[in-house]
Amino acid sequence: MSPRVSNDHTHRVSVLVPRPFAGPLDYRSAYPLPPGTLVRVPLGKKEVVGCVWGPSAPSLPPDLRPAPPKRIVALAKLRSIEGLVEHMPPLPESLRHFVDWVAAYGMNAPGMVLAIAMRVPAAGGIKPVTGWVRSEASMPAGFRLTPARQAVLDAVSEEQPHTVTELSERSGASAAVIRGLAQAGLLEERMIDRPSVQKRPDPDYHPPILSPNQAAVAEALVHSVQAQRFEVTLLEGVTGSGKTEVYFEAVAACLREGKQVLVLLPEIVLTAQWTSRFAARFGVEPAVWHSELGHKTRRETWCAVESGQTRVVVGARSALFLPFTDLGLVVVDEEHESTYKQEEGVLYHGRDMAIVRARMARAAIVLVSATPSMETLANVEQGRYRHEQLDARHGGAQLPEISLLDLREHGPERGLFLSPVLCDAIEKRLEAGEQAMLFLNRRGYAPLTLCRACGHRIQCPNCSAWMVEHRARRVFACHHCERVEPLKPVCPECGAEHSLVPIGPGIERIDEEVRARFPQAKLLSMASDTLTSPAAMAEAVGRIANNDVNLIIGTQIVAKGWHFPNLTLVGVVDSDLGLGGGDLRAAERTMQLLHQVAGRAGRGEKPGQVMLQSYVSDHPVMQALQHNDFQAFMEQEAAQRRPGFWPPYGRLAAVIVSAPKESHAEQLARHIALNAPEGEGIQVLGPAPAPLALLRGRYRFRLLLRTRRGIAVQPLLRRWLGDVKLSKEAKLEIDIDPVSFM
Ligand code: ADP
Ligand code: ZN
Repeated sequence: MSPRVSNDHTHRVSVLVPRPFAGPLDYRSAYPLPPGTLVRVPLGKKEVVGCVWGPSAPSLPPDLRPAPPKRIVALAKLRSIEGLVEHMPPLPESLRHFVDWVAAYGMNAPGMVLAIAMRVPAAGGIKPVTGWVRSEASMPAGFRLTPARQAVLDAVSEEQPHTVTELSERSGASAAVIRGLAQAGLLEERMIDRPSVQKRPDPDYHPPILSPNQAAVAEALVHSVQAQRFEVTLLEGVTGSGKTEVYFEAVAACLREGKQVLVLLPEIVLTAQWTSRFAARFGVEPAVWHSELGHKTRRETWCAVESGQTRVVVGARSALFLPFTDLGLVVVDEEHESTYKQEEGVLYHGRDMAIVRARMARAAIVLVSATPSMETLANVEQGRYRHEQLDARHGGAQLPEISLLDLREHGPERGLFLSPVLCDAIEKRLEAGEQAMLFLNRRGYAPLTLCRACGHRIQCPNCSAWMVEHRARRVFACHHCERVEPLKPVCPECGAEHSLVPIGPGIERIDEEVRARFPQAKLLSMASDTLTSPAAMAEAVGRIANNDVNLIIGTQIVAKGWHFPNLTLVGVVDSDLGLGGGDLRAAERTMQLLHQVAGRAGRGEKPGQVMLQSYVSDHPVMQALQHNDFQAFMEQEAAQRRPGFWPPYGRLAAVIVSAPKESHAEQLARHIALNAPEGEGIQVLGPAPAPLALLRGRYRFRLLLRTRRGIAVQPLLRRWLGDVKLSKEAKLEIDIDPVSFM
């Protein structure tokens, strides 16, 4: 006999749990529970927190809708929910619909996307604090008014609730006396309002005086916000043109509308400088959201966003999953940055999903960049996005003069990496009391270590990558997995002594060269592995701003939107670094990165100078940088991508097959390729060993699905891969709109 449904558990509720299942699971409940309710449910032998799920977003295209469940389990066979998560508001519908979108678009398991949105609420809410006020009840018959009781009644207020501790302090009476009065009905319990986490930013606190061009652009953005509908605007302007000041006006407009604002930054280390600029403009700091925050702050922020108390959030891409209920404006700063793409776990592109979020909220969205991505430019060209441009640096500051230092002519001495021409320029700047910066996008001391005796290269056993020497930490480290090994006194292959030599520079090696060459300089090295927190970054930035240092060496974190007025020279150690590898966007990305680095120079009154060390100074990227002509460069790039319908003129999806055994991975990849979709405008490339053919001990093969723009890849992939049987060890990953081709 099947177990009987107890009379009081007669409701079927659909619950999404944070597991990689295809969709929600059904449970029984004593009450109908509205979608969004956070519940504790049994799952196997465990209890997990899930969310009652409703119908998917009406805006989800039919192509992306998840397939209906294959079979419906009878109510009698379902397990019951255990209970509710206390003190936690339900997930707003807009957030649930967004989760559905991110899942459907990226072909991610919806439960895994929910897990991002639920990281905070799953841990439980804040227990509301209650206090006591004088009730209107009269003294019960026979109730004796002792002096202690009288003292409490004197101390208690009629409107403002006080906690038991507070009352006891005010009256000198014990907690028991206070409880006695409550039992007698003379005191009434009330919730105490928590102080607001974020004071309201004031749109009129300290507005700047905008130049006519800035004012015109600001006005266009303000109109877009006031229209209260979905509209995408590209805000383009050279570094230092005042893009931030201008979009702050859109933020102000949104605050005046009483709506919420989300600003995304590509790197969390940038938040510190950004929040102080915000505070100078709006009088208070915004709420901040990123993975480094403590749980308490995260929980308070989450609740304050949900209740609408918090009006402005600045954060990393995960801030898209906050429970905004009244979003009026989204800003994606440095929209071209590839760091917006989440490359592990749930794959999604922060910029693209920001657009989805804004559309669902009928909010305005501003994409900000000095070097917009090809994707965004294509949307502008096709009339889908508006385009606003700032035409010059603010306050008459000139764009830096960019010169190419051809290393074939002006190469450094053997064993060194800085051209004498660059060194002379640094020397002059330091003598003039100015600051110089050297940029090299490579951490560690040397990317390769070679044995001079036998030719052996120190390689990671788990990845097809060389181990990178980190001399300061005295280790070899793999930059693709967590492996670290102590530095070796002898060659591990042939045993020769003193035969291991570093090949090529990382920033530690540049640091060493600079110390020897400029012993008088006050040096600061900045790399993403040494400056990990926004606080550490803020400290470093403070030292630069105060002129405590005059020579800065850094990886890509120094390239970002920093404003250092006394920095007048930027030297790029290896401009060609990003060009290799055959990545679709290698040239575009190198141009964007180097333009951004160059933009650090000459932001104040003194003009700036940029020197690009390169072996390929006639490359289109170097030419575009030197002549500050990105339009021509991007048009040329577009002309190359259009005919083969490469993005943004077509769509891509990568399929990555991996297994611990190379032959397994290869067989599976070949098998999958046999059933590849065919048709007009559809093409499958591969399988081929991935450039990172071995990663964390798994062999990897890649296939690439390419379609014409009008053809959605998701339904093709679902039909193609839906029935693939995977052995336990094998894994199949799908990357829609891939950014990395490793
Ligand atoms: P971008 O974001 O385009 O690089 P910013 O907004 O950071 O440019 O502006 C560069 C510098 O110029 C900042 O220090 C900023 O405060 C200043 N600035 C820009 N516009 C104005 C303005 N209208 N009034 C005062 N300062 C401005
Ligand atoms: Zn490795």
